This record gives sequence, structure tokens and C-alpha cells, in this order.
Amino acid sequence: MADPCLFCRIATGDIPAKVVYEDDGVVAFRDINPQAPTHILIIPRRHIPSVNALEAGDAELVGRLYLVARELAETEGISGAGYRLVMNTGPAAGQSVDHIHLHLLGGRSLHWPPG
Ligand code: AMP
Repeated sequence: MADPCLFCRIATGDIPAKVVYEDDGVVAFRDINPQAPTHILIIPRRHIPSVNALEAGDAELVGRLYLVARELAETEGISGAGYRLVMNTGPAAGQSVDHIHLHLLGGRSLHWPPG
């Protein structure tokens, strides 16, 4: 049976995406519905449904998501102006894909609180 997880399928290349970074554990691609001039999703290749499912052994992998975000912010030219990193978790936060993903948003002023 085909893997039903959209982001697992993007990670394997089964579904096309505008990939901007990949290594053995992490893939980053442009959001299909960008909310800012830079809107990139950074995901682990391994399926982890949400922050609620994280375990102690995932600490290094989650840290890598942030290190990739830092690198991409640099290459996108938004490091100095600033950017936002968001990991929506659960329905109240609007999580719509059950595979953890770190949003990297920047290139415009971002309001707070986010609503
Ligand atoms: P969230 O609402 O936090 O779960 O974020 C999911 C994000 O995935 C949304 O910003 C969507 O626009 C984005 N998204 C959904 N499908 C795709 C896709 N095929 N390629 C790229 N981004 C996607």
C-alpha cells in the first residue's frame, strides 16, 4: 500500500516539491501556499506525527531542523531582518499535516500575537 503521509512521500521524492535542502535525515521544501516571501517547511525524513509524539531520542534530530533553518535563513537573506520558526501542534494550532514540520517564515514583518 502506498505511504499515506504526504510529507513522507515528499521526503522520498514520490511527490514533487521545491526542495531547497536535503541530507540523510532532513528535507526542506517551499510551502505550496506561502504566507510570506520566504516560507519553507523543514521536516525529518522519519515519520513523527507531532510534537506530542517526540521522545528523548529525537532531541538531536529536532535540533538539526533548527540548524537547517538557520542555514536557510542565511541563504534566503533574512537572518539579519529576522524570521519566525513555528511548529504547529494539534488542531487548535492549525496543524494540517501529521508529520512534524518547522515553518521558516520571513521576508516581511510578522505580527505578534499570531492569532
Ligand atoms: P500546518 O498547517 O502547520 O500543518 O502546515 C502544513 C503546511 O503544509 C501548510 O502551510 C501547507 O500550505 C503546506 N503544504 C501542504 N501540502 C503541501 C505540498 N504538497 N507541498 C508543500 N507544502 C504543502
